[in-house]
Amino acid sequence: MKKGRIIKVAGPLVVAKGLEGVKMYEVVLAGEQGLLGEVIQIKSGMVFIQVYEETEGVGPGDPVVPTGAPLSVELGPGLIGAIFDGVQRPLSVINLRHGPFIVRGVKEKALPRDKEWEFEPLVKEGDEVVEGDVLGTVKETEIIVHKILVPPGVSGKVEKVFSGKKKIEDTVIVLKTEDGKKEISMLTKWSVRIPRPVKKKLPPDIPLVTGQRVIDTFFPIAKGGTACIPGPFGSGKTVTQHQLSKWADAEIVVYVGCGERGNEMTEVLIEFPELRDPRTGRPLMERTILIANTSNMPVAAREASVFTGITLAEYFRDMGYNVALMADSTSRWAEAMREISGRLEEMPGEEGYPAYLASRIAQFYERAGRVVNLGKDDRISSLSVIGAVSPPGGDLSDPVVQSTLRVVKVFWGLDDTLASRRHFPAINWLTSYSLYTKDLDPHYEEKVDKEFPPLREKAMELLEREAELEEIVRLVGIDALSAKDRLVLEGAKSIREDFLHQNAYHEVDTYSSLKKQYLMLKLILFFYDKSVEALQKGVELDSIIELPVRVDIARAKYIPEEEMDERFDKLIEKVEESFRSLTEEKEVVNG
Ligand code: ADP
Repeated sequence: MKKGRIIKVAGPLVVAKGLEGVKMYEVVLAGEQGLLGEVIQIKSGMVFIQVYEETEGVGPGDPVVPTGAPLSVELGPGLIGAIFDGVQRPLSVINLRHGPFIVRGVKEKALPRDKEWEFEPLVKEGDEVVEGDVLGTVKETEIIVHKILVPPGVSGKVEKVFSGKKKIEDTVIVLKTEDGKKEISMLTKWSVRIPRPVKKKLPPDIPLVTGQRVIDTFFPIAKGGTACIPGPFGSGKTVTQHQLSKWADAEIVVYVGCGERGNEMTEVLIEFPELRDPRTGRPLMERTILIANTSNMPVAAREASVFTGITLAEYFRDMGYNVALMADSTSRWAEAMREISGRLEEMPGEEGYPAYLASRIAQFYERAGRVVNLGKDDRISSLSVIGAVSPPGGDLSDPVVQSTLRVVKVFWGLDDTLASRRHFPAINWLTSYSLYTKDLDPHYEEKVDKEFPPLREKAMELLEREAELEEIVRLVGIDALSAKDRLVLEGAKSIREDFLHQNAYHEVDTYSSLKKQYLMLKLILFFYDKSVEALQKGVELDSIIELPVRVDIARAKYIPEEEMDERFDKLIEKVEESFRSLTEEKEVVNG
């Protein structure tokens, strides 16, 4: 291949000449050390390269070597539990061999070459296979079975099968295809900028259950859906992300971290490996992949990192797993785009971000979805994407936030005022929204209860009514409210404190099944309806407010799942009983 020469270096951007035939997005090796770079613009013989490593010491006249391949990731056993940088260099391994900082020009392979895996074939000689078919499996961790698939675009007849202990580059299957023999190993590659193919996308009508009541009941995300979460400092973004990683009903978690400051990413790297999977009691890392960009890593790697992450996520989705990808913070990612665009001297758009900001953000989120995968068995799986944004000063009119909100369907408005009142999760019920609710209602009706969606509507009305009434109270004082309005305030307060408030650190409260969420809401609203009824019958507001059963309602969140059916039935009876005696008292007094 024809070598080029560097003519200019500007931070992460290298400009070279003499690279005839090089393609857009092709990977090149720049400078004497062979620094990894990607072609991002070709203009009148000049090739603009974003370099994923520190370019200090690289200068005009140095060589640039094309590789003929686009920026790709390695796919195969060994991904789970790994920690990579934005271009899939293994951080833990590099740390071990080269010290804590990434040494430039290190060509560490993403996946270990010498490790042996037990390959268990699922096909035999003579079988016809098509793209996406499962050829065999490898037990990658205690909880994850890695499936080796026929790569996209390949089909044929199985000619040879090699089972047993294999390294990822060893041939495990030989196929006879139309283009001749094809040897398949457990290692494949895929270009990060190209979505992996699926058979078809499915509508978002199954919830990704997170066990977090404010999310599942009020602002649910579908499996294969997209959500955005802003995170003012101290508002509980980290706790929310940990809760989602632990509890969401996704088998695989991919976390892409773009740290604000160096130590923030370090926190993630320390905290994540310590998290336990509550369902299995095993380390969460046994079903997690981490991609970490610290602020001292080159910006170009940060730009690539979300695409690296989503490609790994798609690969596990292809196997039939429900995958959840979390990117934090996409604002830092967009800033990397802005910096590179600035170096290219492109015409800037809003706030200096490139004009293609919105389309790049859309390209990322559009890779989410619930799908039927390639392969004869029509595996169904999903890739859900949750992106955190951190606009300067918490300003939601910021272009990154706005471009994100145009593509995602859920917004969880984390709110520092709620956090300062210690209302957790601090997701604001008045500003948040989910556009999946209507699509998901049939699921809630069939799998939980017909009454679930109307109860949610009713609870939301009370919360909205509360906000209006609070405004009146602020202006003219609580005495101006009728007893009925006071009851609205009491009802809304109960929804907030007894339902929305959820303690991530309490062993029972940390997770609620959909069924329990429904039972809790039903109980709270049953009490409210009974209160309204009693008030109409002339019962004093204070005697309603002072009913001891309210303490039981407040404690209902701590009822363990296995006792809920019986205990919630009893609570409903107790509420009925309490009101019966109240109205009887009333009748006695009146009589
Ligand atoms: P951020 O990442 O937004 O700066 P954190 O996620 O670290 O904030 O949350 C800050 C603090 O808020 C936590 O240390 C914890 O005490 C409290 N907190 C946040 N969410 C919850 C929750 N769901 N349950 C209980 N406490 C919470």
